[in-house]
Amino acid sequence: MKKTVLRKYAALIARCGVNIQKGQDVLIRAELDQPEFVAILVDECYKAGARKVIVDWTHQPLEKLHVRHRSVKALCTVEDFEVAKFRYYEEKLPCRIVLVSEDPDGLNGINRGKMQKMQQARHSVLKPYLDAIEGKHQWCVAAVPGAVWAKKLFPELTRRQAVERLWEVILKIARVDDDPIAAWEAHNTDLKSRCDYLNSLGIRELIYHASNGTDLRVGMMEQGRFCGGGETSLKGVYFNPNIPTEECFVTPMRGEAEGIVYSTKPLSYQGQLIENFSIRFEGGRAVEVHAEKNEELLRTMISMDEGAAYLGECALVPFTSPINESGILFYNTLFDENACCHLALGMGYIDTVQDYGSYSLEELRKMGVNDSMIHEDFMIGTNDLSIDARCADGKVVPIFRDGTWAF
Ligand code: ZN
Ligand code: ZN
Repeated sequence: MKKTVLRKYAALIARCGVNIQKGQDVLIRAELDQPEFVAILVDECYKAGARKVIVDWTHQPLEKLHVRHRSVKALCTVEDFEVAKFRYYEEKLPCRIVLVSEDPDGLNGINRGKMQKMQQARHSVLKPYLDAIEGKHQWCVAAVPGAVWAKKLFPELTRRQAVERLWEVILKIARVDDDPIAAWEAHNTDLKSRCDYLNSLGIRELIYHASNGTDLRVGMMEQGRFCGGGETSLKGVYFNPNIPTEECFVTPMRGEAEGIVYSTKPLSYQGQLIENFSIRFEGGRAVEVHAEKNEELLRTMISMDEGAAYLGECALVPFTSPINESGILFYNTLFDENACCHLALGMGYIDTVQDYGSYSLEELRKMGVNDSMIHEDFMIGTNDLSIDARCADGKVVPIFRDGTWAF
């Protein structure tokens, strides 16, 4: 891909994605196979005013080696220097950029039991620091084409051609054209007007139906607000947490979900795919799951902690979204979640609650925002999905018909 185009994309992430403030630190997490783009991105971060840019390199094969060779105790131990790093996040509130490029099947064969124990133990130690930065810093997840990922999507092409093809697709979907920042402003305005309408209705419940058997009701918090596109941190900085994004989403009321929902795309979890699954909810909790592939992994996912079996997000995306119309299954949530309507199991986003800054984290969770160490989106959109909203005044308003907006 041409360097000038990559630079536009990097500038979009630095300025529109995390919106670096003058003198702010930036933390980038990227896979080891992306040195060229990361160098451009670091340069753009400094140009946008960053004081210090830190890159945390990751490498999937190493993750597998660590889990294989370390004892459970060693895996679960959080070292002092790691805690110090989280203290630095809390104090300095750096912007965080995550570049995803990994192989969707890259963790196949890993010892899941050990990995689960490691994640649970580490999360319990680091949770106070994560809670302390919640809502306060800008963050952005964007994608770059990893070679193995690209080959999986375009197996008929050579490695080089596949990477180039995936670059084209990523940049098109991310609206990297002549003036990407202006394109994002227009896109954000459109998403906002849809959210404004949804928020004017006083929705208490979303009712989902599709011919695949989906029949689900999800309760909404009175203070819940649909959000889409950019958002504003508690420090007052406007940023775009996902590039791309096509969704209007809301955090549902914990404990209020009844019925069954069928997945319409595979869910990539911990480097493995869970396929053709259904989840039945009772009193808000996932009480029964079935999957044609990796059912056991799905069970592990919903038992990571107590909140992992409860919903943390309801997102509305038309089935005709540019990502769905590309016809590509990306095996990556950042893209696939923007292909059609989805739900998420696990943590709910506090910033979808009206005036969330005036409540403590505890109050927000009491209000109905679910808490969990996981947040996993799964796709439920079909071309015949219908969604109705039951509103506070008792009216039932059509929101989705035939897989797309009814208004
Ligand atoms: Zn979402
Ligand atoms: Zn989500």
